[in-house]
Amino acid sequence: MFSQFALHERLLKAVAELNFVEPTPVQVAAIPLALQGRDLRVIAQTGSGKTAAFVLPMLNRLLGDGAAQPRMSLRAVILLPTRELAQQTLKEVERFAQFTFIKAGLITGGEDFKQQAAMLRRVDILIGTPGRLIEHANAGNLPLDEVEVLVLDEADRMLDMGFAENVQRLADLCGSPERQTLLFSATSGGAGLREMVAKVLREPQHLQLNAVSQLNEGTRQQIITADHNYHKERLVEWLLANETYDKAIIFTNTRVQADRLYGKLVAHEFKAFVLHGEKDQKDRKLAIDRLKQGAVKILVATDVAARGLDVDGLDLVINFDMPRSGDEYVHRIGRTGRAGGEGLAISLICHNDWNLMSSIERYLKQRFERRNIKDVLGIYQGPKNLKASGKAVGVKKKKTADGKTAKKGAVKKVAAKAPAKRNTVNKPKADAPVLVSQDGLAPLKRRKPAAE
Ligand code: AMP
Repeated sequence: MFSQFALHERLLKAVAELNFVEPTPVQVAAIPLALQGRDLRVIAQTGSGKTAAFVLPMLNRLLGDGAAQPRMSLRAVILLPTRELAQQTLKEVERFAQFTFIKAGLITGGEDFKQQAAMLRRVDILIGTPGRLIEHANAGNLPLDEVEVLVLDEADRMLDMGFAENVQRLADLCGSPERQTLLFSATSGGAGLREMVAKVLREPQHLQLNAVSQLNEGTRQQIITADHNYHKERLVEWLLANETYDKAIIFTNTRVQADRLYGKLVAHEFKAFVLHGEKDQKDRKLAIDRLKQGAVKILVATDVAARGLDVDGLDLVINFDMPRSGDEYVHRIGRTGRAGGEGLAISLICHNDWNLMSSIERYLKQRFERRNIKDVLGIYQGPKNLKASGKAVGVKKKKTADGKTAKKGAVKKVAAKAPAKRNTVNKPKADAPVLVSQDGLAPLKRRKPAAE
């Protein structure tokens, strides 16, 4: 029950109006701490209810003890990596703030700069992407010195997109000594994120929602082996033509591959859209709207472009390329089978995807169902020999007669075949945060790194 939180009655009224009955695990974990004014660093996926987990405490703070007051100054900023996510967040803020005087505004690229400059003086909360906000800061438009709450949402993705410097500068400009900072990310991130946490947050409480268990409900996970990308394209076409689904999303790791696959699908008369970082705002909005309305059932997307997408009825996810980490896999697959619905996740696996796939299986402590489609069966069926870990047995280094490793060249060749380092699955670090289970709040034991 939301009444368990010490939230302003106007916010509880909005929550009731929205028919939110039970708070989600991230809300249970984060809201009380945020209400105490603590800085938080939270790992939680899109779809977990994380937006409400930071918006409700933020609004509560802006409301203060008294009744809702018309605004005095800009008091809260939410930074996000993409326009779509910023738009969705604005809607969420407006829904929760509907019984207050609190006003929120959106600042993203692709909109009129002057109109934005005028608007941002009339709002309490600014929601925006770092690039455009920095442009306003440079133009002297952005009065951030009274900002009390700063939220960095999808912080890992903002860093991936090269926003680290802008985010840091904006955080520095939010100079109120009382500032509370809440950082959310879908993954545990790398050194860049740790550095950002150290620089921007003050004695943060770490919360990690157990993303892995999000996968267990209602989503079947399968792999299909493939010989090469052309074979993968034929598999995708077969799946889209033969599977039963309401809406499907196909992930590629690159824009080039997304465009190529999209071209193939359109040539085969599938109605589809493609979404990647180079698409302009109009195309992106159109793609998302058409998908939401159901006019188009198929979306080809890269991770960056699809981040934050909240589309009902998404029940088929195809990994054309394997995601580069276990967290990213969870994030992609977490889009299916939401709200108790059925979902199917299929990963297409060439020989060079195998070890990454097997690392992700171990990370999830699950074995994906092996599936063959006889109409489009390839030659590759997985490695001939497997290690106990499930990875492929590699080429052995040859020994010379004197017992030493053979020629340098031969060793180099083997090393070059090993999976790239960026492909390693994120494993919990020694300083892993408090883990909170998805089904409740009992702290989980820290996962042991899987044996190689
Ligand atoms: P988010 O992870 O913040 O993108 O939220 C995903 C979806 O779940 C959004 O449409 C929210 O409005 C919805 N939602 C968030 N919290 C709850 C809740 N406690 N009960 C029902 N729906 C919720």
